[in-house]
Amino acid sequence: MSLRAGLPGRTILDGIDLVLGHGEIHALIGPNGSGKSTLTHVLMGKTGYEVTSGSVRFNDADILSLDTWERARRGLFVAPQQSTEIPGVTMEDALKSAVDGNAALHDAIAAEANEVRFDTAILSRSMNADLSGGEQKRSEVIQMAILQPRLAILDEIDSGLDMDGLRAIAKRIRRIVEENGTSILIVTHRMRLLDEIPLAKVHVMFNGRIVDSGGPGLAKTIESSGYAKYS
Ligand code: ADP
Ligand code: MG
Repeated sequence: MSLRAGLPGRTILDGIDLVLGHGEIHALIGPNGSGKSTLTHVLMGKTGYEVTSGSVRFNDADILSLDTWERARRGLFVAPQQSTEIPGVTMEDALKSAVDGNAALHDAIAAEANEVRFDTAILSRSMNADLSGGEQKRSEVIQMAILQPRLAILDEIDSGLDMDGLRAIAKRIRRIVEENGTSILIVTHRMRLLDEIPLAKVHVMFNGRIVDSGGPGLAKTIESSGYAKYS
């Protein structure tokens, strides 16, 4: 059944049907305020948002009654549009509790940082605090790579990134899919990232609904003609 959700007293997602297969990469595009980030919040169980109808099935289980940490334990990962800054906690501290018993965690994080050209000196600082937009995005990709989720939802993971950074994260995304069969939902405004990624499908969100779905060509069409035809 279609997913309806939003804030108390306000519907933002007005009937969403979306299916991602194992190892598939889908893109979700749509104008500002159409509800893309709200969908990522609802999928991860962020407090403040309410689901009024529908379900979210992940690996054959309905996850809507689960706490956020339980969803994460089952392999769901969201890189939010706005990274959470955690003063006093390094990325290694934070990931240690998620990947218990990985003695090589420190080196693994450093290796992943190199993959996305993230200055390893930043790793000793508080997670996401006082980082540039592009650095925060690289930080999110490092976390994804370490956590090896089954489904990763990346909300504007390309914003603030320079061209080299964009190519580096695209490469890391492609590799996690090839090596682990991770499914990925990429939320973006920039078609440039999508050019670097083998997309199974593109979905257009408008006013809280998926109004169009198609192949990679759909992103190209939107790039040239905009969203006017959906209004
Ligand atoms: P998108 O990511 O597609 O740009 P959002 O999901 O961020 O859109 O927002 C959809 C609409 O819901 C916007 O009008 C936004 O202002 C509103 N909205 C989302 N979350 C909140 C919130 N926590 N409080 C108030 N308004 C919100
Ligand atoms: Mg958004």
